Amino acid sequence: MKLGIIIPCYNEEEGLKETSNHLQTLLMQMIKSGKIAANSFICYVDDGSTDRTWQIIESFSKQSDLFKGIKLSRNFGHQNALISGLMQLKSDADALISMDADLQDDVQLINEFVAKFKEGYEVIYGVREDRSKDTHFKRISAEFFYRFQTYMGIDTVSNHADYRLLSSKALQTLSEFKEINPFLRGIVPLMGYRSCSLHYSRAERFAGETKYSLTKMLFFALDGVVSFSVKPLRLITLTGFLISFLSLLVIFWVVFEKIFLGTTVDGWASMMISIYLIGGIQLMSIGIIGEYIGRIFQQSKGRPRYIIDKEI
Ligand code: UDP
Ligand code: MG
Repeated sequence: MKLGIIIPCYNEEEGLKETSNHLQTLLMQMIKSGKIAANSFICYVDDGSTDRTWQIIESFSKQSDLFKGIKLSRNFGHQNALISGLMQLKSDADALISMDADLQDDVQLINEFVAKFKEGYEVIYGVREDRSKDTHFKRISAEFFYRFQTYMGIDTVSNHADYRLLSSKALQTLSEFKEINPFLRGIVPLMGYRSCSLHYSRAERFAGETKYSLTKMLFFALDGVVSFSVKPLRLITLTGFLISFLSLLVIFWVVFEKIFLGTTVDGWASMMISIYLIGGIQLMSIGIIGEYIGRIFQQSKGRPRYIIDKEI
């Protein structure tokens, strides 16, 4: 079988050399033992890096036929960079594995990916078993992220990021998903197909810093929810009903007090509370609805998800 590995890179000059060495050694072994075809490849996608990432990728491709490169015209974000690689090379291999540039995902797992693929699996997920090497903050935020998604009714594989194998059939199906904020972890399980998970423990980032800032991470989480679930809209409706019902009780109480007790001057506190509370809920609700409308707006323009500058 012909295997391709897709690696999105954003300012990864510090770690790229090491990553390439590891992968090259592994792929050479696999080619030698006949597990994969001799024209298997590694393709880096430079997601508009501002450092020497692209020059490094170019030098690799000059040294060996094993390496390919795609340069995007600017930074499009991790998911788009990944999609560009997958879509560009989907018919060039029997299966593509996506992974990060930082060696946090266990490279040795590729052997098992290939073995499972040969058993006939179309989608194979790499699942992080042990996150003890991650930072405390990353662990907690990730935990929260997966719980929140499950709560929102989104079917994802817990602790699976973007280390996965997709067969060319699955990739063909993936190309039919035209959404503008692609959230691959949600889309891939949606496709169905025969799938399985492989477990590994996540290592520390080999070099450099995480390229996911807190804001990037928050927006990523928001994307994951808003592009896969209308549950936030339902929650708004539910809140609306609840408040309307409570208001009904309050109306009865107010009328009762006015007619039978005549003590209706007090009540500043309850009034202030309801003004602020209802105001807050309304703003939040408009915001949530706005998120969905914003997505309709972006989708309706149908702009390309990525723009390729160069390919080598
Ligand atoms: N990445 C990218 N574009 C971006 C941000 C990140 O292509 O805008 C790449 C990055 O180079 C890395 C992968 O996506 O190969 C995952 O990023 P990172 O390792 O920083 O995320 P973390 O593992 O900390 O979640
Ligand atoms: Mg990483």
